[in-house]
Amino acid sequence: MTAPNYIDSHAHLFFADYADDLEAVLTRAQEAGVGTIIVPGTDLKSSREAVLLAEQHQNIFACVGIHPHEASKADSRDLEEIEKLCANPNVVAIGEIGLDYHYDFSPRDVQQKFLTAQLDIAVRNNLPVVLHTRESNEDLYSLVEQTVKAHPAWREAGSEPGRGVFHCFPGTAEQAAYVFSLGFCVSYPGIVTFKKAQSIDVIKEIGIRNLLLETDSPYMTPVPYRGKRNEPANIVLIGKKIAESLNISEDEVARTTTENAVRLFGLHR
Ligand SMILES: [Zn+2]
Ligand SMILES: [Zn+2]
Repeated sequence: MTAPNYIDSHAHLFFADYADDLEAVLTRAQEAGVGTIIVPGTDLKSSREAVLLAEQHQNIFACVGIHPHEASKADSRDLEEIEKLCANPNVVAIGEIGLDYHYDFSPRDVQQKFLTAQLDIAVRNNLPVVLHTRESNEDLYSLVEQTVKAHPAWREAGSEPGRGVFHCFPGTAEQAAYVFSLGFCVSYPGIVTFKKAQSIDVIKEIGIRNLLLETDSPYMTPVPYRGKRNEPANIVLIGKKIAESLNISEDEVARTTTENAVRLFGLHR
């Protein structure tokens, strides 16, 4: 029996956490059946590093963007440079971008300004987006909905599940249905393995049709490795947990979530 083929749709492999053993981390991912890894940037520097990693590894693809935490340190020149990176064939999305009202590391108006500017970059370059949201669902939903409505051609250019992913989705099943109606999908990291994980109840309601898997490495390490550094090979633990909870095969979880990621990021090349 061959191992299921997974895609880790969100791993920050440029962090210093991996400086000493990145090749070993990538080998373990391959051995675990993680065929492809998507690396989202969080500012201009890490976006460039994500692109470099993708240029050096056939199974890595990059997203470029300025995270809401970093928005107050960025300026319009950074946005211009992010847009230039879109021409690189290894860049498959704008991200991660969004709003984070839990930490509020950047003032909210600045977060919104950078989000809007980067949604526009995605539209101009016909790319999907990787969205981060924390305690900011209402504002994020309304900005994304405005973009979708203002640019129907952008939305229609993305084959289902569409034009972006709400990563580490914190919403209810009802909110997930709304996100799907905009043409977006959701993804879940290791939180699904935590005790009393509400996300598993949400997944039981929404199913896996519009689902991606992610590790959010180096964060969100699944049980039983909680507290340790996370890495893409651990996606298998997330897939297993979802398969068990939905009473379907691990193979089906891997196949469906991989197909979704391939479509979203346009990885048929
Ligand atoms: Zn995030
Ligand atoms: Zn992230």
